[in-house]
Amino acid sequence: MQNLWSDQDARAAIESYAGQGVNEDLALRTYTTRLLGGEPRLVQHGGGNTSVKTTVTDRLGRTIDVLCVKGSGWDMGTIEPPGLPAVKLGPLLELAALDALSDEHMVNLQRTNLIDAASPTPSVETLLHAFIPHKFVDHTHANAVLSLCDRPDGMELCRRVFGPKVPVIPFVMPGFALAKKAKETFDANPDCIGLMLHKHGIFSFGASAREAYDRMIELVGLAEKELAKGAGRTLVQVQLPAQLAGAGDIAPILRGLLAAPIDKGEGRYARVVLDHRATPRVIEYVNGSELARCSQQGPVTPDHVIRTKPRPVILPAPEAGKLDEFAEAARATIEKFRADYRAYFERHNANARPKKKPLDDTPRVLLVPGLGLFGVGPTAKDAAVTADIAETCASVVLDAEKTGRFETITEADQFDMEYWSLEQAKLGKSSPKPLRGQVAVVTGGAGTIGKATAAALKREGAEIALFDLDADAVKAAAKALGGFAVVCDVTDRSSVDRAFEAVTATFGGVDILVSNAGAAWQGRIGDVDDSVLRKSFELNFFGAQNVAQAAVKIMLTQATGGTLLFNISKQAVNPGPNFGPYGLPKAAALALMRQYAIDYGTDGITANGVNADRIRSGLLTDQMVDSRSKARGVTEQNYMSGNLLGREVRAEDVADAFVSLALARKTTGAVLTVDGGNVAAALR
Ligand code: ZN
Repeated sequence: MQNLWSDQDARAAIESYAGQGVNEDLALRTYTTRLLGGEPRLVQHGGGNTSVKTTVTDRLGRTIDVLCVKGSGWDMGTIEPPGLPAVKLGPLLELAALDALSDEHMVNLQRTNLIDAASPTPSVETLLHAFIPHKFVDHTHANAVLSLCDRPDGMELCRRVFGPKVPVIPFVMPGFALAKKAKETFDANPDCIGLMLHKHGIFSFGASAREAYDRMIELVGLAEKELAKGAGRTLVQVQLPAQLAGAGDIAPILRGLLAAPIDKGEGRYARVVLDHRATPRVIEYVNGSELARCSQQGPVTPDHVIRTKPRPVILPAPEAGKLDEFAEAARATIEKFRADYRAYFERHNANARPKKKPLDDTPRVLLVPGLGLFGVGPTAKDAAVTADIAETCASVVLDAEKTGRFETITEADQFDMEYWSLEQAKLGKSSPKPLRGQVAVVTGGAGTIGKATAAALKREGAEIALFDLDADAVKAAAKALGGFAVVCDVTDRSSVDRAFEAVTATFGGVDILVSNAGAAWQGRIGDVDDSVLRKSFELNFFGAQNVAQAAVKIMLTQATGGTLLFNISKQAVNPGPNFGPYGLPKAAALALMRQYAIDYGTDGITANGVNADRIRSGLLTDQMVDSRSKARGVTEQNYMSGNLLGREVRAEDVADAFVSLALARKTTGAVLTVDGGNVAAALR
């Protein structure tokens, strides 16, 4: 582990934070916390915590001793001084006299002793930090340390590797009991420079920010040196089928199996997003012959359980061409996981006081020999965090198994952590957005309507993939909207297939398609060149058919219904002069939408369209191909005026129509008109 301390950066931190009224102690505390948090092999996703004992001056000019300790909700890698709220140290130290303290009382005491009432809640490890008399205290869940201590003989091994200056504490649940145990251990070993927490992590401390940080890096380095004895070894690997199916082939199957119906028959599901990982280390882990023993014990450090649940699912290696067999086996395995999870809850809740509320029984990590692992989450962000943690777990177990035997905390301790009262208190406090867990593809995604529609779908909780021919424009749009950019020519079937494969590889599948790519060609129908008409059909009709066909294939594999949305046009029902080359394929697209509604209704897939007109920005469609439109007076002013409501129609209004159709589960084969009112264009 490289020591990243820099005198220059430390001085710069002191100077820049001084301008915000932050003292030197807190500035350096922020600096080394970021050094630790920026290294994923030390700390991940809200894990770990740090503190400094310093002073603040109150309104009356009095100096108060405080502990500035990491607040919940802050990530160490990006922390700022407000993420290290100051708590009065005196009242915290007095608590050492108690024999026991509930988590709720502890949190209340921490909050009521904050200097700034608006601060985040201090870490659950606050009292441990307070009870250690050193000025700077650092805590991480370093991978190398976990690989050593997560073993049946982990305590003895740690004593041997780290020596007498780092006492080892047997596993105790984080909170007051652990803080007391740490104090007792420190008092018996007043010269110690750190503490090893069996099956949990490591603390280091010192008189300065640098000393505590240096010690952390040095101790982790000792652990790495010990693990290096296993370098060059490979776990015994299982035999795999000669031809494996791809991760993109099985992802929609898995997404479908993981989706839980919310209201049987109504077409609503609690869907998940997948995040696939297949690094060489992940592959070595999932192909290990002892994967069942290694993976089914529990997390490598207790707080991972909140993200990963106690166990991952192990699926069979999928053989190419035998996806039906894989799907059947995966269904049985996932059903067994759900049943086992409910049994685990009942088993431990029987002894719990007070009784706990059960969490959902959907697995969070899927291990697939040959293909790697999938993180599972209600959003892409959650799935990515879970996948990161699952990768860390794989890495820790690999290193432990190469020089020994992995063993983690008991199932009862895992339950206590997963069903911790402070976590339970957060349950049911927020209701998910209506399209959470749904993956939406928007074609013509870099155009005005495409961007507005993607933004509106995202606001309702969907993950968005933007397809567009223009690579730079679609990348810029996806970046601005927080979506996934795919360069795709919807008129080219192989380009469409590749684009949907990319979406499936990124999110695991597709639930909503907004077929929006289009362009307006013109010409009087009696003398228009055939090639113009055919080009328009390729984009405005076959483009829609290509993407709808590809989307439906994935939706059928998921077997959780789906939503097809088509940007049609008033031209389909209210043709304008010389707009035949545009209106004819749009009329066919209207028929296409109805055909999908008819052919896939029993599969729960809805197909609907939006007829937009007179949109101020963006004209009729994404682009006006024929420059003659300008000459004919097809200008912005025309589209703003002349509707029944006398209101300007914007791209956002079209986007809202798409969203309302995506939310409607009892509407199919319908067209929603967004034109401010034009009876001639009304459907009849
Ligand atoms: Zn910890």
